[in-house]
Amino acid sequence: MIYLDNAATTRTCPEVVEAMLPYFTESYGNPSSIYDFASVSKQAIARARETIASSIGAKSSEIFFTGGGTESDNWALKAAADAYRAKGNHIITSRIEHHAILHTCEYLERHGFEVTYLDTDETGVVKLEELERAIRPETILISVMFANNEIGTIEPVREIGRIAKKHGILFHTDAVQAYGHLPIDVNADSIDMLSASGHKFHGPKGVGFLYIRTGVKLPSLMHGGAQERGRRAGTENVPGIVGMGKAAEIAMATMEERAQYETGLRDYLIEQMLSRVPYTRLNGHRTQRLPNNANFAFQFLEGESLLILLDGKGICGSGGSACASGSLDPSHVLLAIGLPNDIAHGSVRLTLSEENTKEEMDVVVENVAAIARRLRGMSPQYEAYIRQTEHR
Ligand SMILES: *Cc1c(COP(=O)(O)O)cnc(C)c1O
Repeated sequence: MIYLDNAATTRTCPEVVEAMLPYFTESYGNPSSIYDFASVSKQAIARARETIASSIGAKSSEIFFTGGGTESDNWALKAAADAYRAKGNHIITSRIEHHAILHTCEYLERHGFEVTYLDTDETGVVKLEELERAIRPETILISVMFANNEIGTIEPVREIGRIAKKHGILFHTDAVQAYGHLPIDVNADSIDMLSASGHKFHGPKGVGFLYIRTGVKLPSLMHGGAQERGRRAGTENVPGIVGMGKAAEIAMATMEERAQYETGLRDYLIEQMLSRVPYTRLNGHRTQRLPNNANFAFQFLEGESLLILLDGKGICGSGGSACASGSLDPSHVLLAIGLPNDIAHGSVRLTLSEENTKEEMDVVVENVAAIARRLRGMSPQYEAYIRQTEHR
């Protein structure tokens, strides 16, 4: 198998699993209990919190563990909307956010909030002038992702943070694709809230965190016990938190080297694909993109068919985001960057990891080239196009 869907999820690193195991069967105490046995769990959580805090330049007291990226996004938006309602009812986000943000914004719109969805340029970069223009006295929150999960475009987070700060508006960023892959500094980037998820950086699924800057009023989304200093109720996922802490530690130690390797591999894949498969282009920004993301638009074919045939060869890729696959609508991200419907339908995302090799990229390109020839051979549009160009 050649796994090229690391934006959907990553392989949990064996060292991470090893770090988690004792917290299932040996040190299984509830961290809220008072006896000594439970303090082992409590200390393990404290260590993970410190590791994660220092990885983004935050304080330990600003890190809150959640059930993943989706929960972190929901918490940040819904609770900020609730807490700052007296100040205003306007929220700014972008058209290319993950559904965890977009569907939460739609929910807030049904509950009296107004949301401005910023456009991007054709590479997926949010337009800063448009952001400036969208700001109103009643704007309480700006939420723009750190990097896009479909096309990999990295957003100008530092500039967005500066603009938000200048206007006294909260800034949240969905950094689920960026955390563990790109350097993040919540102070330099003026970030007030940041979402991340364990399984996107070789940690376990079902655990994530939300960074909340000291002073930001953010009430609980989950009501119940007093865990997470009264802000996120529910018995802590101790093994998950320990695993995510371990994954963060590894990600930080290897980031530079990994990014360099993945960028080289990504660029090789892009260059080979564009030169060996005709009528193909790259979606997203050529350089301002995640080290592991490639997203191609293949003219005259259906992305779904290509993916199914690639699967037959043991190659795992994806259409838009994993969360949108199964739906026949073209990706909202590809439409937002201006791709026509048919080109969006012919798009495929390949996201690699440090475990992939150049040889695998060659196999992938070879298979895509062969499958594209076959599918296009059956396409009336392709035939018509070829006939037309021959007549010219
Ligand atoms: C995967 C992803 C999410 C959702 O995270 P889960 O932990 O799977 O809930 C949110 N935002 C982005 C950008 C993602 O890539």
